[in-house]
Amino acid sequence: MDRPINLFLQSSFDSLFAQWGEQHWWPGETRLEIMLGAILTQNTAWKNVERAIFTLRKNKALNLQTLEKTSVEQLAEWIRPAGYFNQKAIYIKGMVKVICEQFDGLLDHLFTLDTPALRKELLSWKGVGPETADSILLYAGKRPAFVIDTYTRRFLSRHGGCSEKASYDSLAKLFTDSLPENVTLFNEYHALIVRLGKEHCHTHPQCKGCPLEAFL
Ligand code: SF4
Repeated sequence: MDRPINLFLQSSFDSLFAQWGEQHWWPGETRLEIMLGAILTQNTAWKNVERAIFTLRKNKALNLQTLEKTSVEQLAEWIRPAGYFNQKAIYIKGMVKVICEQFDGLLDHLFTLDTPALRKELLSWKGVGPETADSILLYAGKRPAFVIDTYTRRFLSRHGGCSEKASYDSLAKLFTDSLPENVTLFNEYHALIVRLGKEHCHTHPQCKGCPLEAFL
């Protein structure tokens, strides 16, 4: 890379945004729906998450009270389209249990935690790793967390900004240290990187016509 990383990251955002504009993430109507989506999207495409959320909505289960009294087996059946449904049902039931027992069943109480405490809390939940925790922080909590995923690691390493094996936390720090602390920017940037990964920066990159081609 022939320019400082902070300039590269800002210029990359500018190019992606100039090309594609606002991405209108996260698709979810409530904080709970966003949190469910963050778990359901693990290892699956978003269209499958939408089908699972649709089934939950159809069964009037997009609230903590119903999820709390629903059996794990029933929940697994409802979220079947999202794949790994038995495991994800256990994760969701665990999340609901913590919120009901430790936060009075109120997301408002959970989200009163400051960002480091909230992140630590989320990471203590079964099935919630750094990417899921940061998605919840950013999209449900509107906190300045940067979500790192496979697409982020791929485009950055291809442009010499990190090694393929860089840790999740070091990459997140790279973004948060290099960019202004701005929730809207972090939200939009992650969404644009996902689009970049889907349209150009595949396993076999299609650099021709890519908004970041000029940075190679
Ligand atoms: S497709 Fe090519 S130009 Fe685009 S981000 Fe990936 S490596 Fe860079």
